[in-house]
Amino acid sequence: MLFSKFATALEELEHLSSRIDMTERLAQLFLELDLVEVAPASYLMQGSLVPSYQSLEFQLSTKMILRTLAKVKTSFITGQTTTLFGEEDTSSVQAELEKRYKHMGDLGEVTAGWVQPHQSDLTLAQVYEKLVALAHISGTGSQDEKVLLLSQLLDVVDPISAKFIVRIILGKVRLGFSAMTMLDALSWAVVGDKAHRTQLELAYLKQADIGFLAETYLKDVAKSKSSLKDVLSEYSVKAGVPVVPALCHRLNTSQEIIDKMGEVIAEPKYDGLRVQIHFKRSGFEDGSKVRAYTRNLEDATHMFPELNELEHAVSADSLVLDSEAIGYDNESGELLPFQETMTRKRKHNIVAASEKVPIRFFVFDILFRDGVGFLEKPLRERKDLLEEVFNTKSTFIVAPFVITKDSVLLREYHEDQLAKGLEGAVIKKVDSDYQGGRKGWKWVKIKEEEGASGKLKDTLDVVVMGYYAGRGKRSQFGIGALLVGVLDSDEQVKTIAKIGTGLTEKRLVSLKEACDKIRVSEMPTMYVVADALTPDVWVQPDVVIEVAADEITRSPNHTAKVALRFPRLITVRTDKSWQDATTVEELKSL
Ligand code: ATP
Repeated sequence: MLFSKFATALEELEHLSSRIDMTERLAQLFLELDLVEVAPASYLMQGSLVPSYQSLEFQLSTKMILRTLAKVKTSFITGQTTTLFGEEDTSSVQAELEKRYKHMGDLGEVTAGWVQPHQSDLTLAQVYEKLVALAHISGTGSQDEKVLLLSQLLDVVDPISAKFIVRIILGKVRLGFSAMTMLDALSWAVVGDKAHRTQLELAYLKQADIGFLAETYLKDVAKSKSSLKDVLSEYSVKAGVPVVPALCHRLNTSQEIIDKMGEVIAEPKYDGLRVQIHFKRSGFEDGSKVRAYTRNLEDATHMFPELNELEHAVSADSLVLDSEAIGYDNESGELLPFQETMTRKRKHNIVAASEKVPIRFFVFDILFRDGVGFLEKPLRERKDLLEEVFNTKSTFIVAPFVITKDSVLLREYHEDQLAKGLEGAVIKKVDSDYQGGRKGWKWVKIKEEEGASGKLKDTLDVVVMGYYAGRGKRSQFGIGALLVGVLDSDEQVKTIAKIGTGLTEKRLVSLKEACDKIRVSEMPTMYVVADALTPDVWVQPDVVIEVAADEITRSPNHTAKVALRFPRLITVRTDKSWQDATTVEELKSL
């Protein structure tokens, strides 16, 4: 397929707001692609060159892209002059570009309006190859080389292609759909409805690689070489490809939990970083034996040098384990607060950080061992398998647990954990399979002491949708309040609050900076907002913040149909994407 055709399809998708229309258009696109283009196209649509668990980044900042655009041939009359040294003086061009960027807030749109219209016969595969080559350039002088290569590419493509090339490089394609819509579209492409969606999703939960799944499915099922069952039955957990992590529901009382789930396993809820550990004694492609993936399926191996100890700690050749990594104090042996564990989240000086804040991995699940996946096995059996695997436990500790059907015991266990300074208990159905995401009543948390106060039992993770310019004293900051929303079915974001109080000046300024990087001129298509709440600046769904509130009340103004009373910002959740925000459904349990 010509890249220009692909880009035109993305442009159409960007302007569709109904989920059904998007699914149908995406299905049509999948069918038009050559099979070898399916995986690259799937990644490109997510603003990436590879699945999210591999990292191949462009390392090109907004500033560098503006520098690139200044080199591209345009019809913009600059009155360029030559400096004393014979170099072109591009300062007026740069100033014009920066002005346009400030006004539009989207470098993709700036690019589309800047490059000259060309007809290009570059194919999707050719552009993809060029982008991969660009991302691989490293070392001294690499930035200049990247700028040159990118400007050459932008010089020969049409404006819509240029727009999406720039957005892909920035990792923000702004299409407004996730991997789940892509699964719907795949099913739609093959059977004309969503009939295959559930099975496709089960496969995706085992290996979170949308490109590989799309290709496998379209290759074998669409060409009717095999039945859906045959194709997906081969799908299993694999060391080196992350499993979508299971997450918790919330319930308020231990009695409710027992009523709903029957016999349960209760474990301490550690307040650290979720780490899915993958181990292969014979080594992955790059020779390393361990990989670590975050809750958001990103590779975090570099953060945890202590994972190299795993090969001496286990009796297995390959493994996938689920754990919570948490810092501890070497002298007192006590676990450290979340903020200190988070000091590991850095790119450099990891070894020094690992000496300062050593990590323990509380391993609570085993998903795969020596070629066999365990997702369908009941949790009770997985716990036994987990116990068998470890020879020594120093850095790795198998999380302790109790089994009970007694709500009083369960409540006491939860309170004991809180008394120990942990986050309470995670409660899991004793015979449940391992299912990624928040489906079914398999994992549940009770976050605060039961009935501790009239305030909301848990915080919410909300999407920042835009902001209002400040009035009065706050006008000097240019931001006074944020408009935030929660997720409804069909990936719509509906408003639930305006948050202004309780924000310090410093916070306001840093939030404005974060928002300005993702501002857009029009309301993103997935937002549902009443006119009266239109903010001064819209932003793409990208920043997720954790908020506390006193109450949830009915609201005619907010499209979530409820509003938060006295919402307060707790922290910015850099570890969450907008699709991880609290859902309208979850609000009901609050
Ligand atoms: P929050 O971090 O605000 O609680 P969340 O959405 O990140 O919300 P939850 O669904 O509330 O996470 O809780 C699940 C998280 O708890 C897991 O992602 C994991 O990081 C952590 N955790 C700590 N101990 C355990 C445990 N024993 N079993 C499972 N998860 C645990």
